Amino acid sequence: DPTKMADWQIAEEAEKTMKTVYQLRDELGLQEEEVLPHGHYVAKLDYRKILNRLKDRPDGKYIDVTAITPTPLGEGKSTSSMGLVEGLGKRKKNVTAAIRQPSGGPTMNIKGSAAGGGLAQCIPLTPFSLGLTGDINAIMNAHNLAMVALCARMQHEFNYDDEEWAKRGMPRLNIDPRNVELGWIIDFCAQSLRNIIIGLGGKMDGFMMRSSFGIAVSSEIMAILAVSNDLKDMRERMGKMVVAYNKKGQPVTTADLEVDGAMTAWMVEALNPNLLQSIEGQPVLVHAGPFANIAIGQSSIIADRVALKLSDYHVTESGFGADIGFEKFWNLKCRFSGLKPNCAVVVATIRALKCHGGAPVPRPGLPMPKEYEGENVGWVEAGTKNLVHHIETVKKAGINPVVCINSFYTDTKDEIAAVRRLSEAAGARVAVSQHWLKGGDGALEFADAVVDACEEPNEFKLLYDLSMPLRQRIELIAKEVYGADGVSYTPEAEAKAKKMEADPDLAKLGTCMVKTHLSLSHDPNIKGVPKGWTLPIRDILTYKGAGFVVPVAGAISLMPGTGSNPAFRRVDVDVETGKVKGVF
Ligand code: ADP
Repeated sequence: DPTKMADWQIAEEAEKTMKTVYQLRDELGLQEEEVLPHGHYVAKLDYRKILNRLKDRPDGKYIDVTAITPTPLGEGKSTSSMGLVEGLGKRKKNVTAAIRQPSGGPTMNIKGSAAGGGLAQCIPLTPFSLGLTGDINAIMNAHNLAMVALCARMQHEFNYDDEEWAKRGMPRLNIDPRNVELGWIIDFCAQSLRNIIIGLGGKMDGFMMRSSFGIAVSSEIMAILAVSNDLKDMRERMGKMVVAYNKKGQPVTTADLEVDGAMTAWMVEALNPNLLQSIEGQPVLVHAGPFANIAIGQSSIIADRVALKLSDYHVTESGFGADIGFEKFWNLKCRFSGLKPNCAVVVATIRALKCHGGAPVPRPGLPMPKEYEGENVGWVEAGTKNLVHHIETVKKAGINPVVCINSFYTDTKDEIAAVRRLSEAAGARVAVSQHWLKGGDGALEFADAVVDACEEPNEFKLLYDLSMPLRQRIELIAKEVYGADGVSYTPEAEAKAKKMEADPDLAKLGTCMVKTHLSLSHDPNIKGVPKGWTLPIRDILTYKGAGFVVPVAGAISLMPGTGSNPAFRRVDVDVETGKVKGVF
């Protein structure tokens, strides 16, 4: 009974009878050398061998799971992704899922690990939550190695004259210390590392300058992992990362530092997706990273391509609301992969709709406000405007929306009826799902709605062409997807945008917006569907390796902060068995 147990306790129970990777391998029809076990319950899949062998097999149906604008607690997207594979499994469909590897930041902070919850979870939970097979470690090593290379080069260029460089047969890069783009990364929420000074000490202790830490999952290398089609593609992308500019304002790249080969070397194993399972034993691929607000926030193209060859229905998840997660799935991930989704699920909960409709916003770390306990159809109806906005976004992509009402035991019949009525009027299929409480048995209506939506014809189309100038594209996303009236720029951001539009190397890159997930607007405090506002762009970063430029809207930071009541307080180990408790 999930109402009486914590998620990690449910996971622990399910893990007693979970399938081994060898069972999963046989069920998926994989060959021995295609599966690289990490213990008995987690494996990496050799994507290259699998894609080679199955290149002629037709792809399964491709389903993206996205959501309404979440409240600070998360509204059950991962839970619903797991519920959907379990429901499709109960309907005897051959199904897989791909979800993102959680970051240590949120796992140890407020949110927990994103394995789902109740009877709809990804297991084994502890390895899933705590580093898995080391992909994020590989990313940190590759990224920080680039920073080590950059800082060392700056120190030596400062200390040595041209003659010394000529002796080494190396060109002087003339890096401008006031124009360094790259910082360091760590996979925790460490606000005190956002702005730092490095190189304090003597001449041999590095070049002194301002620097910064971002969270690991915001690294361009995480984006490269998500969008690479294979190792060759990754190798090429790794050399294009802009780390700084020289004194003439020209970009200095990882290839200029001659560190790109070594960076890729750290990443070879990470390119293979990880195989885990749902509580009911469906295969779940875990690959690439979260954070669709400050990063691309998608599971990897490689995981989806492998899974689409192995199953008839593949469920992938894109982070946060459809305004950011789905928009990036649609216009970046699908553009880079060439894959076409068949339908998209928009997950909503009654409590989140109440929050959009006027109920007090829950504060992270504090108990849910009392207002969420009783029925309030008025708040639900008002909040459904936010859901309808996201349904319309999915329709703009030309695919069929399915609304999943992720049901809580506190929801009432009239509240659910209101959401159903308004969503159907907006052109969506609607399913109420109880996967959290009942697993796959509770998700049959949901599974059937998705199967039906996949059968319908669709006309998937991208929102913009890469020939569209950058500022026009930003405006299109702001108006069409966020509902803004227009876009404003700081002088620096506008100057950068103009430069990018004029640079043939940058003009054709994709656009990966950075914006809060807590509102359709840039202001996390505005719920519902904000009207009459302008999206402020304060900076534009270049992720040339990943293949996009990154306009940054509002005050959002690439390094979140750890709160006053963090999750790590509840994590411990049983010293007799070594089992981890309290990770959720
Ligand atoms: P998201 O992916 O949207 O961030 P998650 O799926 O990680 O959200 O769920 C967040 C939390 O909410 C989890 O702790 C999960 O157990 C809980 N949760 C999700 N769905 C339900 C539900 N239907 N009833 C009760 N709790 C739920």
